[in-house]
Amino acid sequence: MSSVARLRDRVRVPDRREAVCSRLPRVGENRGMPTTAPVDGSRATMPSTRSARSLRLLAVHAHPDDESSKGAASLARYAHAGAGVLVATCTGGERGSILNPRLVDDPELNADLAAARRREMAAAAAALGVRHVWLGFVDSGYPEPDLDGARPPLPERCFASLPLEQAAAPLVELVRQFRPQVVVTYDENGGYPHPDHVMTHRVAVEAFEAAGDPRRYPGASAPWTPSKLYYVQTFSRPRIQALHEAIVSTGRPSPYADRLAAWGDRPDRRVTTRVPVADFFDQRDAALRAHASQVDPDGGWFAVPRDIERRVWPTEDYELAASRVPVAVEEDDLFAGVR
Ligand SMILES: [Zn+2]
Repeated sequence: MSSVARLRDRVRVPDRREAVCSRLPRVGENRGMPTTAPVDGSRATMPSTRSARSLRLLAVHAHPDDESSKGAASLARYAHAGAGVLVATCTGGERGSILNPRLVDDPELNADLAAARRREMAAAAAALGVRHVWLGFVDSGYPEPDLDGARPPLPERCFASLPLEQAAAPLVELVRQFRPQVVVTYDENGGYPHPDHVMTHRVAVEAFEAAGDPRRYPGASAPWTPSKLYYVQTFSRPRIQALHEAIVSTGRPSPYADRLAAWGDRPDRRVTTRVPVADFFDQRDAALRAHASQVDPDGGWFAVPRDIERRVWPTEDYELAASRVPVAVEEDDLFAGVR
């Protein structure tokens, strides 16, 4: 038996992997998005020393809807400029629940939430102008803790329960096929401690480190080494605090009061990169609303008036976790050093 076959035996990848890879658009293909950005604010600020068509960004997320709440406007911005933007979603979100009060009793949703989330994800990707693939793993769920604060054990065969090498294999293959210069995911805390988010961080780091090494994960595609790895940090305390104060100053109730009060002494994460995206908030919001079962259109996602958000915090922020190209101390572009 060849070493490749042995590895495939040992690293049992999800059945959908072949379908995922065969659906992946050819590298360099774009979606007919304009390659010349109009001259209006942040849409005109992308330098062009390297054709945007040759730039590729891969965002790795845990569940359908995470891409729309964590860095979505950046995805829309780079796709608009002609870069290849691909969202990879590790799980199907099967163990999510309906979070939109208007839809809690919706019979179609309750009959097959997973199917609904697939439709919602397709609509969100279309709203952002990006491509999307499922990595085919099963949502681990995040049940409420019992009275002692303990959560039940993870379900068998769910994403977060898998050995790292098995969970990372489809993503390594995807990186080799799509060949992104930039990979975006969560920090080691997952952004919030859902086990699938923490596992998503682990597989993204594994793929960033291993995809360029021909000795690791031998498979059909040639090794590819991404240049930069980022952790999305859109929910930083300074941003929440600034938005909170701006809302309160207008006499409106802030959606962040409880969150700030409970923040405690957690240290702020390092932010290295602030991408101007105010012109893409509308696309981000459309993508959020596309996840109708998960997003309450009257809820906290839309509680900050957009004119305040544009004025107070017009960027999406990132932490540069690793780079194989020289970088500046402060960046405003995920492709800085790559172009
Ligand atoms: Zn999630």
